[in-house]
Amino acid sequence: MKAVQITEAHHMEVLEMPEPALTHKNEVKIKIKNVGVCGTDMHIYHGTNPLATYPRIVGHEVAGEIVETGSGVENASVGDHVVVEPISYCGECYACKSGRPNVCKDLSVFGVHENGGMREFVVLPERQVHKINADIDWDEAVMAEPYTIGAQATWRGNVRTGQTVFIQGAGPIGITVLKMAKLRGATTIVSDLTNERLSFAEQNGADYTINPSEAETKDQIDEMTDGEGANVVIDAVGTPETFELSVDAASPAGTVVTLGFNATPSSIALMPITKKELTIAGSRLQTHQFEKVVGLINSKELTHDNLITHKFHIDHIQDAFQFIKDNPDKVRKAVVDFE
Ligand SMILES: [Zn+2]
Ligand SMILES: [Zn+2]
Repeated sequence: MKAVQITEAHHMEVLEMPEPALTHKNEVKIKIKNVGVCGTDMHIYHGTNPLATYPRIVGHEVAGEIVETGSGVENASVGDHVVVEPISYCGECYACKSGRPNVCKDLSVFGVHENGGMREFVVLPERQVHKINADIDWDEAVMAEPYTIGAQATWRGNVRTGQTVFIQGAGPIGITVLKMAKLRGATTIVSDLTNERLSFAEQNGADYTINPSEAETKDQIDEMTDGEGANVVIDAVGTPETFELSVDAASPAGTVVTLGFNATPSSIALMPITKKELTIAGSRLQTHQFEKVVGLINSKELTHDNLITHKFHIDHIQDAFQFIKDNPDKVRKAVVDFE
């Protein structure tokens, strides 16, 4: 079978390798249909993901069909359409026992710390697959993992009806956050430096948009919220500046959710956090969000609506990665097709 391996930073190969075999009775073998290309994959390719090790088969946004099941598999069958939950964890540490295995001390992410799904077949434990209805288009199914990122961020922010939610960044992650915030009934404000991205956010339900290069963001938020501020701020940009703005733009009793991995310190005083009694919540990957997201995909309440802009065949993977790198404004989400 074919597999896309990043052998070291800046080097990609399409390998010919044996198909994986089941090694435990709780495993399933999946024939991959399509795989989304994420910023994480690009960072691993370009050597800018500090968590990745090489060589690595990338890909963690995966949809496929089960072709074999182990003798102990109970809830999956050959022929099932599935999406992959890309985390594995110890189940024993404090985080795992607190229901937050996404931050397990021994967390392993499919396609980052271990080989991922950009190959024709994978074998995984049954607990890492979630069944998608057979009538759902593969391009809708493959968006499940990106939506779980938005589902997690809105869960961490406890987003609900009646709130105003300010989302910084209208890239693919910002859009998944927006879609989930709208499904939770919030009024949404989205900021981005690109007007084309802002108009796409409007098509996806953004109630207000702000381009920080054209207007002072904090003033705009105050105006839109009658001076109250945003009840939840979700930072899908992740710079020291956007984090500072998040704390500034949050309302009293509000919540700030961070998604970025930027290691540069921000200068934020204690005062606004204590005075407004803010909750600052990190949001990483997802925990227990697949059930909900898959339900919304199966009921067609969650559809990609042109979030997928480009498709590439596995045979053109090198060109795909180059195109995505060279065209950040054209490519929202690109998908690699294995058929
Ligand atoms: Zn991703
Ligand atoms: Zn653990």
